Amino acid sequence: MKSKISNVITILVLLFAALIMVTEFSGIGKPKKTMETEETLIVTSFYPMYTLGLNLTEGIDGIRVENLSTPQSGCLHDYEPTTEDMRLLTDADIFLVNGGGMEVFIGDVAKKLPDLKIVDCGSDLRDTIDDNSHFWMDIALYKDQITAAAEELAVLLPGEKADAVRTNADKYEGRLDDLLALADEVSSKASEAGVSVVNLQEAFFYTTSELGLDVIGDIDLDEERTPSAAEVSEVVDAIRGASGSVIVLTDEVFGKKTADTLAAEGNVKAVYLDTMVFPQEGEDAAEVYVTRMKANLETIMGALD
Ligand SMILES: [Zn+2]
Repeated sequence: MKSKISNVITILVLLFAALIMVTEFSGIGKPKKTMETEETLIVTSFYPMYTLGLNLTEGIDGIRVENLSTPQSGCLHDYEPTTEDMRLLTDADIFLVNGGGMEVFIGDVAKKLPDLKIVDCGSDLRDTIDDNSHFWMDIALYKDQITAAAEELAVLLPGEKADAVRTNADKYEGRLDDLLALADEVSSKASEAGVSVVNLQEAFFYTTSELGLDVIGDIDLDEERTPSAAEVSEVVDAIRGASGSVIVLTDEVFGKKTADTLAAEGNVKAVYLDTMVFPQEGEDAAEVYVTRMKANLETIMGALD
């Protein structure tokens, strides 16, 4: 008799445990989170997207923007999300990404988090360079990314928030028109001066393309590596064959050593530009693009004198 009762209790306990597991995994009993009623968390993949996200959601109550942990390697090349990143993405409603293959981990994230809405700012871009997804370095393409992000966000967000995002997009794109005007000035001055360019950073091909600069040589130092002697000597030959002066576009992180070597040639100036992927202490993250892209253009302008 006693053992029958304990058998019944055991069965009841097992049934109860099974019920808990079923409700836990099916989500039954959990209140469904909606973007109508609760805070919307937008997570961005790296710093240029974080800046974009902050501008599009500026002053809108009930939306929070967070960035994934910033990789030490510059852009997202070979980057894998950390455990902390995955935790943040699990809580996120929307994942705002650059696209074009920059986020190599995106397929895994989509598989692990099927409910996460992915907003890809690079999916409709035209005039891009093959296998090069540093779109934000071209001001006009960055504007296209803003438009794409705003359109997709407006579909996902409820009415009022969607309208506010569209208004913010117009305002932000308007501010970038000033940068485009400055880019035009740099472009004219470069062609008048007859300056040629050597490029040491994959990201800056969007800069040279937007400014219509004459690229006579390049070495891709977007990641930590030492260029071969053959690569360097080929570029040195191109510099010696140039009719006018040459500027070497490079970044501080990966290209400095090679730029110094090339700058030993008589007619060469090393020009340090910013890919805007590293946060700087004390800066307003929403102002990064306008401030630092302007600085890039002024740096090139200064080197053309
Ligand atoms: Zn890069």
